[in-house]
Amino acid sequence: MRALMWFRSDLRVADNPALHHARKAADNGVIAVFAVCTKQWAEHDWGSMKVDFVLRNVRALSEALARLNIPLVLIRADRFAQVPGRLLTLAKRHACEALYLNSEYEVNELQRDREVTALFHEHGRSVHTFTDQVILDADRLRTGAGRWYTVFTPFKRKWCEIVKEEGLPPVGPRPRRQGRIGIEPDAVPATVRVFAGHQRPDLWPAGERAAQKRLNAFVARRIGDYHKARDHPAIDGTSALSPYLAVGVLSARQCLQAALDANHGRLDSGRKGVTTWISELIWREFYRYILVGFPRVCMGRPFKTETDNLPWRYDEGQFAAWCAGRTGFPIVDAGMRQLAQTGWMHNRLRMIVAMFLTKDLFIDWRWGERHFMQHLVDGDLASNNGGWQWSASTGTDAAPYFRVFNPLNQSWRYDPDGSFIRRFVPELAGLTANRVHCPDGQSLAALDYPRPIVDRRNTRQFVMRAFRRLPGRTSS
Ligand SMILES: Cc1cc2nc3c(=O)[nH]c(=O)nc-3n(C[C@H](O)[C@H](O)[C@H](O)COP(=O)(O)OP(=O)(O)OC[C@H]3O[C@@H](n4cnc5c(N)ncnc54)[C@H](O)[C@@H]3O)c2cc1C
Repeated sequence: MRALMWFRSDLRVADNPALHHARKAADNGVIAVFAVCTKQWAEHDWGSMKVDFVLRNVRALSEALARLNIPLVLIRADRFAQVPGRLLTLAKRHACEALYLNSEYEVNELQRDREVTALFHEHGRSVHTFTDQVILDADRLRTGAGRWYTVFTPFKRKWCEIVKEEGLPPVGPRPRRQGRIGIEPDAVPATVRVFAGHQRPDLWPAGERAAQKRLNAFVARRIGDYHKARDHPAIDGTSALSPYLAVGVLSARQCLQAALDANHGRLDSGRKGVTTWISELIWREFYRYILVGFPRVCMGRPFKTETDNLPWRYDEGQFAAWCAGRTGFPIVDAGMRQLAQTGWMHNRLRMIVAMFLTKDLFIDWRWGERHFMQHLVDGDLASNNGGWQWSASTGTDAAPYFRVFNPLNQSWRYDPDGSFIRRFVPELAGLTANRVHCPDGQSLAALDYPRPIVDRRNTRQFVMRAFRRLPGRTSS
């Protein structure tokens, strides 16, 4: 039997269930395939940072597979709609009788996979799908009453209960080399034209080895203090593994296993830094779970449907100032410039800038969600949507609408000496620790830095009123 292994957001050889099973079943060899779908990527708001990261990782994957004599071929399809036909043609050309893949959960991806499965079955070929992106499948997790969880804490409790009881699902050893099958791998393009913008390969090296090295360094040196350091953007206190998890260069299982190893196997007790980090991995699982149970969040709809009626603002000038990091609120601007320059933003800042856009400017969270997706190297629909809806108070577990971060307080608290602000807003580098959070009129006159674009006291009243007037606002 010969098998086709279709890589998508699982760009790795190690701990890859579909690859492991394809390799075990296919006595006549495995052919790997990746689909370059540029128009679909653009429609999904992928930006140049993410596309560059994906392509470099596909190249690294191709090299790793070549060492196992597994050729990686590319199919080019503008959109997902063309993928089923192209995959089948490939399967026929190389006499592949089976297709192996790991599940994806977004609405368009699910539709594409249903079409591929139907077509392959129609043509007498089998399709084998595995769980990989998450540690526990959504259908394992229901409340006592058989309902979907909509709140994180009980979800986490149940999740931990199952994982403690069953342990981590085992994945076999790294696949062994197969005999040569006489098919040459395709060259992976360095870039595709529409996505030739800003890229930072220096910050985000590709490949499993680079990802594993980052994970090992984090677990060896920083995980112990994670609970204390993770909220301070000037400190290298988090793992910065999100891009690798988003495209599957690293699996959630590998991360959890490394954390458990550093905590004598304990999941929710023991070292505080480790358990706090594990909690973040579970947040990632939770947002994927929500995508499956409530697919409307994939389609621009709020989780709390009544918040559909909020009179969001669409002020292009203010939005442009926010995107450019020129709002006159230094901590917000530092975060937005970190995003523009590095393709990544610290979690504390993601919350601060998202709250500022939605609660101080009262601009539609979907504008912010889209801008993030277009610029993040770790752009991921589930986590991005979850984070934005949390900040806008439209989602699961959302911050209550009356809880609004004060950017100034956040700045004092999490960047007390202003060193993060100075790094990304060099115009303010000469100001004292006191002034850098909130430059006064006098210091501004000499600097090329804007005055605050909004008076927060006024918008706060307006936003509170808009939320209070929502019909049935307590329901979900
Ligand atoms: C408005 C907003 C938008 C966001 N957009 C994205 C996105 O597009 N892609 C993305 O991966 N994360 C997103 N997040 C979640 C979080 O900010 C990032 O995952 C985190 O900052 C990545 O840094 P790290 O790898 O150092 O995380 P660590 O703190 O080291 O955490 C480890 C891993 O856990 C996961 N994780 C951590 N925090 C969260 C969280 N709050 N929600 C879901 N997963 C989490 C990530 O995979 C992360 O790599 C968003 C958060 C907000 C508030």
